[in-house]
Amino acid sequence: MRTYDYILVGQGIAGTMLGWFLQQAGQQVLVYDDARPHSASRTAAGIINPVSGRKFETAWLYDTIYPFAEQTYRAMEAALQVSCFHERDIWNVWPSAQMRDAFAACPTPYSQQPRELRYAEELQQPFGAGIVKGANVQLSSLLPAWRKTAEVRTERFDTEQLRLEENGVEYQDLQAKAVIFCEGVESPQNPWFGKLKFLPNKGEALIVRLPFRTADIIKKSITLVPLEDDIYWAGATFSWDYTDALPTAAARETLENHLKQLLSKDFDVIDHIAAIRPSGPDRRPMAGLHPRFPQVGIFNGMGSKGCSLAPWTADAFVKNLLQKAPLPPEVDIKRYFNALR
Ligand SMILES: Cc1cc2nc3c(=O)[nH]c(=O)nc-3n(C[C@H](O)[C@H](O)[C@H](O)COP(=O)(O)OP(=O)(O)OC[C@H]3O[C@@H](n4cnc5c(N)ncnc54)[C@H](O)[C@@H]3O)c2cc1C
Repeated sequence: MRTYDYILVGQGIAGTMLGWFLQQAGQQVLVYDDARPHSASRTAAGIINPVSGRKFETAWLYDTIYPFAEQTYRAMEAALQVSCFHERDIWNVWPSAQMRDAFAACPTPYSQQPRELRYAEELQQPFGAGIVKGANVQLSSLLPAWRKTAEVRTERFDTEQLRLEENGVEYQDLQAKAVIFCEGVESPQNPWFGKLKFLPNKGEALIVRLPFRTADIIKKSITLVPLEDDIYWAGATFSWDYTDALPTAAARETLENHLKQLLSKDFDVIDHIAAIRPSGPDRRPMAGLHPRFPQVGIFNGMGSKGCSLAPWTADAFVKNLLQKAPLPPEVDIKRYFNALR
């Protein structure tokens, strides 16, 4: 039997971050990931936006979570020899005079009035724009880079073969202290955690070629994130009412209409992608061990903010696993224990 400290199921941003912090703490980790191409982490643009809503409210715990995320991504960039964390201006094009005025009336440490209008030729922006200081994480670089350094089996983990023993788990010819499921949208089917409250939603995006280059994120009713040269990610839709995870003609039409309303020039659609966001009803991560079977745990619920939430929550979960430090109550699955008992 080969022995590990932890087996992780899933290597999206959740499994990657949990694996990273477990490794940093000296733990032996084995990851199972079936590498499906249209997982949430393989579809996301990785935007980190400090503010949201019509009142530009600062995101939950942002002043704690963002510096920790930046420090983590920088450390991973250095260790993995990869560039993936990009601080960017988010150029918010106002859809109305009301939004422009609301931005001016709600200053945050992250907002700035532009000194001059950018993209006068490229964008339709009769109400002007404002700048928010944000970032994006290139998951398409980070996830494969960590995968190369970690012990990862590219295969499906079969929960039916998992045996819970008194002091840990056995799976095929392996044993470990616990299995932590970081399986994204699969968790509602998980035999131990399926009763937690999930509220997944579907998102679609286009990959487009535009006739200009910039390092900014551009946001109106659609968000443009530079990928390379003149290629951009353009998304995303939100839908709670869907039958599968495939791209739809209706979402494509919506996204193309948003692009036509934003851009002054033509664009080429190169690809159309879709995935399901693993979310809970309170839009907070879910971390913890099962109340009756502490040999299994879950790390999920990243919703639409996996890139900002996963580093801080993974670190807290590892401290909980190894040092018995209490998890922050907002992310602790204890809030759902009645459903699991
Ligand atoms: C269109 C779209 C745009 C988004 N934009 C952003 C954004 O700009 N910023 C942001 O922060 N977030 C964004 N998100 C949300 C973000 O994608 C999620 O928060 C995050 O990716 C969730 O990560 P995860 O690791 O929990 O799940 P996933 O990324 O779904 O990873 C789960 C992994 O588990 C594997 N897996 C599942 N079951 C098994 C099994 N039994 N055996 C082996 N492997 C298994 C899958 O292959 C997958 O790799 C977006 C999401 C979508 C859909």
